[in-house]
Amino acid sequence: MADRISTENTIKLLTEKYGEDRTNKLISYLDAILEKNEHINLTAVRDRDEAVQKHIADSLSCFDVPEYKNAKTVLDMGTGGGFPGVPLAIVSDDKKFTLVDALNKRLRVIDELTAGIGVTNVETVHARAEEIGRGKNTREKFDLVVSRAVASLDVLVEWCLPLVKVGGYMISYKGENVSRETLEAKKAISLMGGKIERVVEIEDATDEISGHVLVIIKKVKNTPPKYPRQPGQAKKNPLR
Ligand code: SAM
Repeated sequence: MADRISTENTIKLLTEKYGEDRTNKLISYLDAILEKNEHINLTAVRDRDEAVQKHIADSLSCFDVPEYKNAKTVLDMGTGGGFPGVPLAIVSDDKKFTLVDALNKRLRVIDELTAGIGVTNVETVHARAEEIGRGKNTREKFDLVVSRAVASLDVLVEWCLPLVKVGGYMISYKGENVSRETLEAKKAISLMGGKIERVVEIEDATDEISGHVLVIIKKVKNTPPKYPRQPGQAKKNPLR
């Protein structure tokens, strides 16, 4: 777990990179989430120093990736307490964010807290991935879909790739099981019209969590209409 000094260093690095105003918003959002977490289950991380690393620095780890830089519309699947979507939105005024979760009470907290700190480029949508992936106004409409700590990669691609435009990308935040997960997801990625572009090791100086990687998948062709399957199917019977 990170100690207090490294939290101060992280905040200093964030300020250098994103400016004081945005860094203040990042920290205000995190503190408000930790306060709300006393009453509503938003995150398992309760320690502030750990939360600065895991929820702020880690969320921002795709900031310098070109596939992120070039996107204008970003969807965060299974956003929970707003991670990685809200920190990314705070530092990316040029992009519009759609934060999706199946649990409405978490989204209401995000709405309240983002409004409180003046974040205007975030919209929350209460839906299951399997529903929004079939929506007329959402299917194959996003430049980029990001997701962290939601499901194994074989399940996640069935939930996320149907939402990505052909030519767009999905970025999955993963940890130490990435080699096994990418192997097991090979068939599902291809069936959804995707192709693994690369796996990026997180090197951001502000991110002290070792072993975290970003799996970048390009959407190379349309997803067949039968995907995503009915709610629950991807988890029960992953496409392997
Ligand atoms: N992404 C956040 C993070 O990294 O802190 C939250 C991770 S939390 C462990 C997983 C979230 O995914 C939960 O909020 C859950 O409600 C949501 N989720 C799980 N299955 C889902 C589905 N089929 N559609 C939409 N959201 C889903």
